[in-house]
Amino acid sequence: MDGFVRVPVREQDAKVRATNFQEVCLGYNKEEAESEAQRCLNCKNPKCVQGCPVSIDIPAFIQQVKEGDVEGAYQTISKSSALPAVCGRVCPQESQCEGQCVRGIKGDAVSIGKLERYVADTARELGIKPEGAKEKKGKKVAIIGSGPSGLTCAGDLAKMGYDVTIFEALHEAGGVLVYGIPEFRLPKDAVVKKEIENVKSLGVKLETDVVIGKSVTIDELMEKEGFEAVFIGSGAGLPRFMNIPGEQAMGVFSANEFLTRSNLMKAFDENSRTPIMRPKKCVVVGGGNVAMDAARTALRLGAEVHVVYRRGEEELPARKEEVGHAKEEGIIFDLLTNPVEIHADENGWVTGITCIRMELGEPDESGRRSPVEVPGSEFDIECDAVIMSLGTSPNPLISSTTDGLEVNRRKCIVAQEENGQTSKAGVFAGGDAVTGAATVILAMGAGKAAAKGIDEYLSQK
Ligand SMILES: Cc1cc2nc3c(=O)[nH]c(=O)nc-3n(C[C@H](O)[C@H](O)[C@H](O)COP(=O)(O)OP(=O)(O)OC[C@H]3O[C@@H](n4cnc5c(N)ncnc54)[C@H](O)[C@@H]3O)c2cc1C
Repeated sequence: MDGFVRVPVREQDAKVRATNFQEVCLGYNKEEAESEAQRCLNCKNPKCVQGCPVSIDIPAFIQQVKEGDVEGAYQTISKSSALPAVCGRVCPQESQCEGQCVRGIKGDAVSIGKLERYVADTARELGIKPEGAKEKKGKKVAIIGSGPSGLTCAGDLAKMGYDVTIFEALHEAGGVLVYGIPEFRLPKDAVVKKEIENVKSLGVKLETDVVIGKSVTIDELMEKEGFEAVFIGSGAGLPRFMNIPGEQAMGVFSANEFLTRSNLMKAFDENSRTPIMRPKKCVVVGGGNVAMDAARTALRLGAEVHVVYRRGEEELPARKEEVGHAKEEGIIFDLLTNPVEIHADENGWVTGITCIRMELGEPDESGRRSPVEVPGSEFDIECDAVIMSLGTSPNPLISSTTDGLEVNRRKCIVAQEENGQTSKAGVFAGGDAVTGAATVILAMGAGKAAAKGIDEYLSQK
C-alpha cells in the first residue's frame, strides 16, 4: 500500500442489499483498521480536530488504534462524544474531519469515520463503558428530547455530576436515530440502543411517552418539579409539503411518516401491527439525505423508485456516499425536474405525477443557482405513491407553551451558539430545534456547548 489510497471498506453486494434491511456497510476488522490507522501522519497541528464539531482528539485515538489499544481509543473518543458508533456511520466526515485531513491533498483522506466506527463497535463487543462522574452536585437538570443533542447534553452533564432526566415524547429514545435513519444505515438494536444504554450507565434517567407542553410544561418542571435548568433538544420533526394540486391524495406521504412507520414501528416486518404501503412505483421528491433514505426504503419494500429533484447532480444536498449507494441499488434520478400536480383515481389513490423540466438560472441568496422552469416541458410519471421530502421545521408546541421563550420567523428557538442560552433564564436549547434540520454531529456539538453553558449557569446560582 502506498499510503495515498485508503483501505477499502467491505459492503453488502448492491443487488443483495436492495432486497433486505441489513446494514450496507460492514466496517473494518482489526487488520484493516490498524492498517488504515498507519496512514495517519499524526500532524502537529491536526486540522481534522478543528473540522470536528465535538473536537474529538482524532490523532490520539488513531494512534491508540495503531497500537492495538481499543479501550484507550474508546475512552479518548468518549471524552468528546456520547455516540461514536452512530457518528462513525452517519456523520458527513467528507465535509468535516476528513475534509480537513492533509492526506486528502494528494490522495484519500484517512478514513476517520470508519476508524471511529471500528473503535466503538469493538468496545461494545468487549463491554467497555464510558467513564462516569466521581462526585454528584445534587442539582436537577431536565432534557427535552432524546435525539443526539439531548443525549449529548445529558451525558456531558451526568459526567459533571448533575442529576439528569431526559423526557421523550415517543415510546423509544433516540430521536431521528431511531425513527428517521433506516436500519440498513444505522442498526437500532445493535448500535443505537447500546449507545443510549451507555448514556444511561452514566446515571441519566429516561422517561418516555412524556410530551413536554402537553403532559407537563417547562414552567411546571422548573417551578414545581425542582429542575434548576432545562435543555430543549426537541428537533425539527414537522414536515413541509409543496402545496401543489393533488397533494391530499391517498398514497402521498411525508418522508417522516413513511420512515417512522418503517423504522420505529417496524412496518417493513410482516409481523408488525403497523401497516405500510408497499408501492409498485414510487416518486420521492427532494434530494437530501432524508430523500435518499425514503427512496432506498421504498426500494427495499419492492418499488421501482424515482427521485425527482429540481436542481442538478452537483447540487444534490445528500452525502455523495448515499447518492452512490442509491444509484448502485437501482434508484432512478430525474434531476432538473419539479412536480407540478399529483393525479388520483376515482377512489382518491395516487395514479401519477406531472413534472416539469428545469434549468439552472442565476445564483440565489444561498449562492446556489436557482432552478427555473422550462416552458412547455411538462411530462407524466405513472406511480402509486409520492413521498415528499422537502425539509422539516420545529414543532411549535414547546415554544407556544413556555413563557418568555423567543423563536424566529422559521419557528426555531433563538439560542446563543456558544452556550445554548435562550431568552428565558435557566432554559437552554440546541440541535435542529434551534438551527432547523441539520446534522447529527452539529446537534451533538450544540448539546455539548449547552452542557457547558448549563454548568456555568448553575455554578453561579
Ligand atoms: C431520515 C433522516 C436521515 C438523516 N440522515 C442523516 C445523516 O446521515 N447524517 C447526519 O448527520 N444527519 C442526518 N439527519 C439529520 C439528523 O438526524 C438530525 O439533524 C439530528 O437527529 C438532530 O438531532 P436533535 O437532537 O436536534 O433532534 P432529533 O433527533 O429530532 O430528536 C428530537 C427528539 O425530541 C423529541 N421531542 C420533540 N418534541 C418533544 C416534546 N414536546 N416533548 C418531549 N420530546 C419531544 C422527539 O420525539 C425526538 O425524539 C437525518 C435526518 C433524517 C430525518
